[in-house]
Amino acid sequence: MDNAQIINQLLCRGLRLEPGAAPMPAPGEDLVLRVGGRAVCPVVSGPWAGDSPWSLAGGSLRFAGEPVEATVEVLPAPAFRAESDPAGVPLGRIARRYGADGLWAAVGPTCLFWASPNRCAFCLVGPAREAGQDLEDKTPLQVGLAAARAKELDQVAHVMLVAGLVPPAGGEIKHLIACTQAVKGAAGLPVEAVLLPPAFTKDLKRLAKAGVDCLDLSLTSFDPTVLSRIAPAKLGLGLDRYMEAWAESVRLLGAGHVSCTILVGLGEDSDQTLEGCHLLVEMGVIPLITPARPGGEMELPAPPDPEYLAGLYQEVAVYMRDHGLSLAQAQAGAARSGAYSALWAWELEPPDLVVRPLRNPDELKTALALRHRVFVEEQGIVQDTDQDGSDDEALHLGAWQGGELAGVLRLLAGDEEGGLLRLGRLAVRQESRGRGMASELLTQAAEQARRRGAEGLTAAVQAANVPLFARLGWQKRGEPFAIHGWEHQEMSLDLG
Ligand code: SF4
Repeated sequence: MDNAQIINQLLCRGLRLEPGAAPMPAPGEDLVLRVGGRAVCPVVSGPWAGDSPWSLAGGSLRFAGEPVEATVEVLPAPAFRAESDPAGVPLGRIARRYGADGLWAAVGPTCLFWASPNRCAFCLVGPAREAGQDLEDKTPLQVGLAAARAKELDQVAHVMLVAGLVPPAGGEIKHLIACTQAVKGAAGLPVEAVLLPPAFTKDLKRLAKAGVDCLDLSLTSFDPTVLSRIAPAKLGLGLDRYMEAWAESVRLLGAGHVSCTILVGLGEDSDQTLEGCHLLVEMGVIPLITPARPGGEMELPAPPDPEYLAGLYQEVAVYMRDHGLSLAQAQAGAARSGAYSALWAWELEPPDLVVRPLRNPDELKTALALRHRVFVEEQGIVQDTDQDGSDDEALHLGAWQGGELAGVLRLLAGDEEGGLLRLGRLAVRQESRGRGMASELLTQAAEQARRRGAEGLTAAVQAANVPLFARLGWQKRGEPFAIHGWEHQEMSLDLG
């Protein structure tokens, strides 16, 4: 078993601590191990851990009582927790360690949902506040102090600020802003804000302006049945509100700086889960697949199956790679930490060329500029602009090489027979031609069309590109004709 498999197993099955193996973590803290140098926080208490085949004894890991070959290190309890602020408030009531190098602090008043039947079963803030482990009216100054001390004493390198729903609408934003600024001022660390999609997307802009580096807007599950059971409030907000917030967050902070935790192992529909992850990746949001664990009011009949997790990780990692998305893009938060999800272990080397749908108006602007260079300035096919009013409703694909947009095309709903999409505006910048970029764009266009249920593609193809289209299975339809004096050929691709 390699380190990735061990970590995946530990996250799903938990870990039994034999007497003297490691000190039990303080309430609200997790035990942090490094396995082969990677941080992992397995469940170590309760029946879950008691029934685990994994145990830690005498500094070594065991599976079913047999030693397992792996380097294991138990991190000491975080030292900042033993300190207090000038008024004598323990910093452990202000923030807690997250993984090996993160800090986690709930900010603002307790979430409105916590006092309602709609509260989330996995909520950790509500129970911690009821138990007096977490201070409800902590100040930004206290949060900044905790971050600075945790940085100095425990080598904390990033901070997660968590806020629930605070009335009036968007009330949580001011707490996130004030605490972000306090953390930046006192510790200079990258910050992730973890929140529900706000009622007004302009609030996301306020967070970005305040210096938030990453945003986590976690739907938790794409299976409505599961969501109604564990997070009815999130179900009530509706997918559209999440979609709007994800899109705006990626526009503000960039792809890979926005994440959505997806808890699995709750009896969810795996197809719906994967479809949801695909949707996130296409938007530039990291789908942080995470095995569910007991905690808060969460009831789990059985631990998540590590094999099931591995399959999801693998599929999501390929999709992320193909869309140029990587956990390394996240400067803060759960995506950076990797201590509660083993997705990092399945990540793949990024390809040189990434072809994916455009994600936001800024990318569309870059694509339109590239088209202008090719169709207007270079080829002179049209005089002033190639924009015809259809770009807003089109699906645009872009090919990125070395992080720069090198080629584009668009897909429009067909205007003749149902089930056909119209492909057009295929343009590759001059310096990138002859490297298979157009072919890759066309292949991805067919894939996107197939996924959207299209029966085929049609296009008016420039004469010089007919052999390329033909090589990819496109058929000529009718006789050649001229567009603005340039010879074209109507062609189609059957996707049936
Ligand atoms: S939205 Fe967040 S803070 Fe509110 S109940 Fe759910 S987990 Fe707790």
